[in-house]
Amino acid sequence: MSESKRILIVGGVAGGASAAARARRLSESAEIILFERGEHISFANCGLPYHIGEVITDRKKLLIQTPEAMQKRFRIDVRTFTEVVRIDPEQKQVVARNVKTGEEQVEAYDALVLSPGAAPIRPPMEGIDSRNVFTLRNMADMDAIKKVVDTEKPSNTVVVGGGYIGLEMGEAIRERGLGVTMIELAQQVMGPADPEMAALLHQQLQLHGVDLRLGVSVAAIQEEENGLSVKISSGDTVSCGMVVLAIGVKPEVTLASDAGLKIGERGGIVVDRHMRTSDPSIYAVGDAVEVTDFVTGASTLIPLAGPANRQGRIAADNIFGRDSVYKCTQGTAICKVFDLAIGMTGASEKVLKRAKMAYEKVYVHPSSHAGYYPGAAPLTLKVLFDPQSGKLLGAQAVGKDGVDKRIDVLAVALRAGLTVYDLEEMELSYAPPYGSAKDPVNYAGFAAANVLRGDVGIFHIEELDAEDPAKLIVDVRTPKEFGTGQIPGAVNIPVDDLRERLDELPRDKEILAYCGVGLRGYLACRILSQNGFRCRNLTGGMTTYKAAAGKLPKLEPEKKTVTPAVDVASGVDAASEIKLEVDACGLQCPGPIMRLAQEIQKINPGEALSITVNDPGFASDVGGWCHSTGNRLVSVKPANGGIQAVIERGQETAGAACSEPSAACKDKTIVVFSNDFDRAMAAFIIANGAAAMGSRVTLFFTFWGLNILRKNEAVPVQKNLVEKMFGWMMPRGAEKLQLSKMNMGGMGLLMMKDIMRKKHVATLPELIESAKQNGVKLVACAMSMDLMGIKREELIDGVEEGGVAMYLDHAEQGRVNLFI
Ligand code: FAD
Repeated sequence: MSESKRILIVGGVAGGASAAARARRLSESAEIILFERGEHISFANCGLPYHIGEVITDRKKLLIQTPEAMQKRFRIDVRTFTEVVRIDPEQKQVVARNVKTGEEQVEAYDALVLSPGAAPIRPPMEGIDSRNVFTLRNMADMDAIKKVVDTEKPSNTVVVGGGYIGLEMGEAIRERGLGVTMIELAQQVMGPADPEMAALLHQQLQLHGVDLRLGVSVAAIQEEENGLSVKISSGDTVSCGMVVLAIGVKPEVTLASDAGLKIGERGGIVVDRHMRTSDPSIYAVGDAVEVTDFVTGASTLIPLAGPANRQGRIAADNIFGRDSVYKCTQGTAICKVFDLAIGMTGASEKVLKRAKMAYEKVYVHPSSHAGYYPGAAPLTLKVLFDPQSGKLLGAQAVGKDGVDKRIDVLAVALRAGLTVYDLEEMELSYAPPYGSAKDPVNYAGFAAANVLRGDVGIFHIEELDAEDPAKLIVDVRTPKEFGTGQIPGAVNIPVDDLRERLDELPRDKEILAYCGVGLRGYLACRILSQNGFRCRNLTGGMTTYKAAAGKLPKLEPEKKTVTPAVDVASGVDAASEIKLEVDACGLQCPGPIMRLAQEIQKINPGEALSITVNDPGFASDVGGWCHSTGNRLVSVKPANGGIQAVIERGQETAGAACSEPSAACKDKTIVVFSNDFDRAMAAFIIANGAAAMGSRVTLFFTFWGLNILRKNEAVPVQKNLVEKMFGWMMPRGAEKLQLSKMNMGGMGLLMMKDIMRKKHVATLPELIESAKQNGVKLVACAMSMDLMGIKREELIDGVEEGGVAMYLDHAEQGRVNLFI
């Protein structure tokens, strides 16, 4: 090992500073000179947007190393404001120029490391050099942008590009209370992710008031008296006080190419596994080099800090004779977009398609941690894998919490060559605040391995064709969920009813089942396939469908400076009409919708209420509910980590049961025959859901079902001996019912009630009460009452007596008739 080497390093940030520090650790006698043309070395470029957004308030914290500290600790000769302008590989010399004085110096090297990074792209367009048009790469750029934000407070900023930097800048400026228009040429933000994953970000951006324009580009920028005017390809003009260009970066290769070093097809410096360029004495690292994609094996550009740092270290190792190897780039990355994070590792579906590699994919939507522990939020996880071996090819995740942990676990699994079967077996840390006994990673493994083992067939949104006569699409969610929006052509048979309703399904067609997130669809497929049907389940369910099919409702931008929300579409200020504030936080689906349906009855048509929830699915559901109940969704916006919606009551039925029979009413009749606790719960959940969707609902209680309606306390009534005995043996009221299965002498029931309480599911008496309030008709079968010796006085208030004619009359008017 030649320890007295002279090492020159070009570029003093991620890759360059890492190479310099590692070189010193390996050799105390080496002479190390670090050239940086800017003022600072080793600054946290990844933290720049957060200082603009004033999340990182102390600017100094971004300066991780100063030239003085680097000199003191590592004895590195740091030359800032010094640009290396030429390399002479023959002479092993560089020419470095002081950018302030123009003075040049020639320095010889034994080994040269290039880490010049990548420069933000500034397209040649009209007005690109106008005042207040910025890119963001270094501290100076950050200072310039922050100064405009601090002093001029532009009411609108146009952020061009929806990649990492564009998204972070959009958030930073919104967090400062200023308007943002984001212009993105593609149909999605966050290009490395697949579109259905990015769609979740679109909604998040809209929810936070970013005016997102997809599929358009900037044509020209013009300086005007009061700011800038940005012309976009759609023909629109956007006024703003500042433009931030974040449309990508280009490797800085001029120095290398002028020196005759090999440049690759993607425009980066070509290096081998030791980070050595085509000249054996010159190494190159970081954003300027082409890397090999870990999954596809193709040459690519992946400008990320982690690879740059590791490559700097590897270059230094090799300079000092260590055989360190850089083993490709996976593209593991994460980005915060307001309340969401998006993370990814390995290949995306787009990349796999381009590389013509075979793959299968699953989506799961588990909770970030145990649902009963506060703060749990859904996580959308997509896992791509080899359809033969199950080997992992890539993963993407979007969610409020726990995205980093899952993507990092999957990144390690992918790097280790693991399969989806290995994900099933992974033992990951668990306590309720952090995870679940079945972690989302295990869960993705189960879903994928089920497919490979043939336990369930899956299908994807791309395969849906409502017109295909050989297939029947079956929605196995509850009627309430079905009512909030469904896949065109689907019929609704809730999974819990499926076994009893098999004869409604055609045996000559393939059943395409789906539910909310894929779990009940899987259960339905297991039931169907064991009953001789051909069936496949929609992976990711309706949640993925909405994102992939562009069905996520577009949320109107909220103006940050105006609260409560303004309906931008109509220009109506909802604030003046909000008559009722409803706090539905802590309620789980369908709780918030049910609460909304109840509360809206308290206001008059034309008035509005505001409801706050922390179930993220509400943002999507509330639009469907309003649509199907004739109410108007005025706005949806983020509020204290949850969602606040403003809804104006419509002129007619407004979310409750119809008061009069009419063609518009979607009547539903449920015969409640059983007095099992779980069946009674199901009956009342469906009834409440249907009533919340504006249906007129009749529950017809017959035989054992009558016991649900009995008062808890004994009522003195005249009965003969047989009637008395019947009365003693049967459960008296909703509190006394038993589970149909796993009752275990009441233990199972207690456990079930405990889980329900923790998950904020309403109790059966509460559901009965809210059904009554929602206008659900409770009818006790007069004939069964007589047979079983149940007297009118024994029943709870609000129950009507009726006969079979009354039941049939209601059933014939309705479109749904269930037997429970
Ligand atoms: P750089 O860190 O860019 O350093 C190159 C340096 O070389 C520059 O300072 C330049 O002035 C200097 N230089 C160039 N040519 C010469 C020359 N001829 N002579 C002397 N000096 C020269 N990555 C992530 O993984 N996560 C993130 O969250 C993230 N956020 C980011 C946010 C922003 C705003 C930016 C700009 C980047 C972000 N990145 C992030 C990317 C990450 O910072 C880069 O991948 C990484 O810094 C690349 O390191 P590098 O050494 O190749 O180049």
